[in-house]
Amino acid sequence: MGKSVFNAISEIINQAEDMCAFSVDFSDDSYDIQSSGRMAALVDENSNPLEQFCYNRRIHESDGAVITAFCRDLLGSKNNPIYESRYGISFRANLSENAEDNTAEYSWLILTIAIDRDEELRARCIVGHLRIMNHAEMLNKTIIDSFTNDKHPRVFASRAQAIVSDESRKSAIVQFDIEKFKLINTAYGEEKGTEILNFIVNGMASICNERQVCLRLSADVFMIAVAYDDISEIEELIEKISERLGHYQNINYKLVFGINIITDRTLSLRKQGDRAAMARQSIKGNALTNVCYYNDTQENKLVSRKFIEDRMYYALENEEFAMFLQPKYSISTAGIVGAEALVRWIHPERGMLSPAEFIPVFEADGFITMLDEYIWEQACKALRRWMDMGYTPIPISVNISRVHLVDDKFIDVLDGLIAKYDIPKNLLETEITESLENAGDTAAIKKLKERGYMLLMDDFGSGYSSLNMLKNTPFDVIKIDRDFFSEFMLSDRGKKIISHTISMSKDIGLDMVAEGVETREQAEFLEMCGCDVAQGFFYSKPVCLEEFEKLAFFGADNEKDMRLEA
Ligand code: C2E
Ligand code: CA
Ligand code: CA
Repeated sequence: MGKSVFNAISEIINQAEDMCAFSVDFSDDSYDIQSSGRMAALVDENSNPLEQFCYNRRIHESDGAVITAFCRDLLGSKNNPIYESRYGISFRANLSENAEDNTAEYSWLILTIAIDRDEELRARCIVGHLRIMNHAEMLNKTIIDSFTNDKHPRVFASRAQAIVSDESRKSAIVQFDIEKFKLINTAYGEEKGTEILNFIVNGMASICNERQVCLRLSADVFMIAVAYDDISEIEELIEKISERLGHYQNINYKLVFGINIITDRTLSLRKQGDRAAMARQSIKGNALTNVCYYNDTQENKLVSRKFIEDRMYYALENEEFAMFLQPKYSISTAGIVGAEALVRWIHPERGMLSPAEFIPVFEADGFITMLDEYIWEQACKALRRWMDMGYTPIPISVNISRVHLVDDKFIDVLDGLIAKYDIPKNLLETEITESLENAGDTAAIKKLKERGYMLLMDDFGSGYSSLNMLKNTPFDVIKIDRDFFSEFMLSDRGKKIISHTISMSKDIGLDMVAEGVETREQAEFLEMCGCDVAQGFFYSKPVCLEEFEKLAFFGADNEKDMRLEA
């Protein structure tokens, strides 16, 4: 397109006053400029016009940043896909003779750009013209600027408001952001981060149709107002965004979406956006999903989540977290053969909080790694204490959250604790939840095994599990999940499955622990199947260290009751 279009425009310019036409050919970085009248003062014919706009002293200081960003995007578009082929933007500039005179009157200018792109949507050539706005254009300025729709919140607000308040159609506010965007900046540099954001900004301009308006709310948070007839339109939009904008060059990242289906049109746009944000935040760090619809309970949940996050560091420092121990019993002898360390949050105002309330929050925000390490240390301290007091120490298993498994640094932490408290490695066992990703072949799990730790597969049977995966597993012990056997025990067929799972596991050298044993009947059945170790309320709830020591070292009065008659 280049030359011929440029020639056509410069023809017009020759006849018009106060105009400037230019082209930039990216194949050899050459450019052409022709200007007439007052515009001659604004652009110099001896350097790239887009670069000039970035540094032009005549541009009003309030508009400078927007124009610079705009021209930088265009300059970058020879390497990066650019989704719009046409842009317009308005700005103020001083056209008087003295460029330094900041008392001078500013004129509103309009810069219009057409882009010729290759198959990969990278710009080959840009042709543009710049002229003073006429009166009608001044009145419609927001519409002109909506070409560059991410940079103008007011344009978005008025169009989004129109969509939301139009009762003839359904509407929704969608928000999305890049998960762990900060990590991308750290790993690839801020410049790459900015490139990615620009890539998304440009991409959104081409993805959104006339019933969808998009705004970039902050660095990596985007908001879209959508009018729709069928919910599938929203799903398609999200799919499109994830597919086209969810990776940049060789960098993959996850986009997380919150959707607020508008039910109450009287709420302010801000509130509607907040609801989409709550939905988005409620699934932060959730590996299983990246899309969430707003519902009322999220508002409450978020309050408690905030309550938890505001307090967690303080709580750790002030020893509000305590290690409880739940004994593991030998079914045949009714003696304690081990213990699991379980965290409790003893909150001064709220009382004892159960892990179900706070562990998911900590897993999402990463705090779980600190808390785990704290509990591991408490376990080591207890083991040291028992040895010092001359008791035969009882092995304690600690939970290793999946968040640790991304690398093997946590193994050094464990090693450090073992060394610090000088305890035999076999006394500190590790529990890891089985899952599809870590069916035992995670590098970190293998390494843990190599370094001599006992591995217990937690929650076996609760989610993804297959007997097949036990074949080459590095785990030493399988912990059968409570739900698995309590449910299966209800039918004969289920009982057979449990009994065969146990005998097969034993056959291949795996030990078993049954979790959540609540009744004598369950204990009897498990023993019959060949599983001798059980943990559950039938024997004992998790108890504080002092209580545990009473049970373990001073003999339990009720031991006889728990012993099953042969
Ligand atoms: P889990 O590792 O499967 O721990 C067993 C859970 O089952 C414990 O719940 C325990 O109190 C409960 N339980 C034991 N016996 C019975 C029974 O007979 N009946 C019933 N209904 N429940 C029983 P708790 O302590 O609330 O912990 C819940 C989960 O929180 C744990 O499940 C574990 O996934 C996580 N968790 C607890 N402490 C820690 C920790 O220090 N670090 C990490 N990463 N996760 C922890
Ligand atoms: Ca566990
Ligand atoms: Ca478990």
